[in-house]
Parts: sequence; C-alpha cells; structure tokens
Amino acid sequence: MTARSNNGVVPHDYHMHSTASCDCHASMAEMCQSALQHGIAEIAFTEHFDPKPEDICAGFYDPAGYFDALEAVRRVFGPQGLTIRAGVEVGEMHRYRDVVQPVLEAWPYDIVLGSLHWSGENSVFDEDYFRQTPPETAIPAYFDELAEMARGGGFDVLAHADVFKRTAYGVYGSFDVADWEDCVRPVWDACIGNGIGVEINTVGLRIPVGDTHPSLEALRWYRAMGGERLTLGSDSHRPAHVGYGLAAALDLAREAGFTRVCRYENRQIVEWIAI
Ligand SMILES: [Zn+2]
Ligand SMILES: [Zn+2]
Repeated sequence: MTARSNNGVVPHDYHMHSTASCDCHASMAEMCQSALQHGIAEIAFTEHFDPKPEDICAGFYDPAGYFDALEAVRRVFGPQGLTIRAGVEVGEMHRYRDVVQPVLEAWPYDIVLGSLHWSGENSVFDEDYFRQTPPETAIPAYFDELAEMARGGGFDVLAHADVFKRTAYGVYGSFDVADWEDCVRPVWDACIGNGIGVEINTVGLRIPVGDTHPSLEALRWYRAMGGERLTLGSDSHRPAHVGYGLAAALDLAREAGFTRVCRYENRQIVEWIAI
C-alpha cells in the first residue's frame, strides 16, 4: 500500500448511479463526461441491488448488462484519464445474503456499498412512516438494524449511514446526532470490527436537510473510536450532481480528524490517499 498527497483535489466519487439502476435515467457515458468536466479522475458506478420484494428496484438489477455497459465506458473514457470502478449498492445485505453473495462472488466488483433503505418493513423514504412513528422509536430502530447489518459484514463500505434523516426532516425537523450517540456508536463498533469503511454521502447537501450522511459529529466519534476507512460519494442520479459537495465532504473529513481516504480495487484498499 502506498500513500500520496492529492493536494486537496477530490480523489474520487464512489457512489453514483446510471440507467443500470431502476431510478436513474442518466447513461454511464453522461455521468463519466460529467466526472471529467468536474475534474474527478476516479468514479464507481454503484447501482442499486435491492432484493426486498417491496422495493421499487426489486428484480431490476442485471449484473451482466451492467458489466457490459461498464466495459464500454471504460474503453471510451479510460484513455481520457478516467478510472471507472465496478461497484454495487446492496440493500439490506443482512436479510438477503443468500441472494446477494453468489452475485458478488460471480462478478469482479471493486467496491460493494451496504445500504439500509428499509427499517423493518418500513421504507425510510416513506414520509408517512415518520409521521406515524415518534423519533424515539424510529431512530433507534434504524440504527439498531444498521448495526446488525454491519455486524453481519459482507460489504466494503457503509453507505449514507443516517439516510433516514432526509425524509424524516419534513416531519421531525433537524436531526441532531448528539441526541443519539448511544445508537450510533454500536454501528461504528461493528464497522471497525469488520473492516467496513464509512462513506461521506453528500446527497443531503442538495436537499432541505442540508447535512451530510453521516454528520460531522458522528464522523468524529468514528475517528475517535479508531475508524480509519473513509470514502466519498455524491449518490448522484444525474450528471449535474456528479462530485456534488465532495470538496465540502473533504473539509468535513479533515475537521473530523481524518488525514486520508481509501482507494478500492478488487474489494481491497489498494491505496490511502492523503487529504
Ligand atoms: Zn441508497
Ligand atoms: Zn445510491
């Protein structure tokens, strides 16, 4: 493993989607073009693989089609200086391991994101769920299941650790993670114990909640507990959002005490990049 300074340049965008995800209309080529325009030299297409039958993306994920499309953009954009990692965003890995694991073993992924889009039987994108459930119930339930998912392992990086807050914001208002420290620390414990990295996801910066996932304070705890593995992701579903907020995410990482982020290949950390 080597380390190098990136002179403050955004080193990667490790969370984005394309038409290979059920909820995205942008082609891989459009997303690649945008990455080059934004000066981002390394990206990962992390398409939704959501096996839960009730999920809007259930049944859509097609690894063969994905890898064909990926090879095509690698041929076009590789020579232009863009490194394109093979990624996937797996929903609820702890519940669908039997379905997911064979796919992860069959295809040459570079980075596997683990996401929790459902808290029990409730979609965290369903505002009604938060309207019907007090924060004292919904928030610990989310983090408890997130910790369970991280304890189960099988993925490389935990995506958008507190993603529920973007939908809950319309009902609960601002989310102050300091009120939920006891719920968050077990998640970090599990990530650190299983060698799972944490993503700073910037989707929240372009919507009313106005915060990263996770927020600064939670990142401080992760770092203080010994967490080192960190990646950045815009979670973009449109070309205009590629790289969005990642410079701010780098500042946040430094503020939380991090001095480097991770580069992944073949599901291993192959480099620590100084920030
Ligand atoms: Zn997600
Ligand atoms: Zn995503």
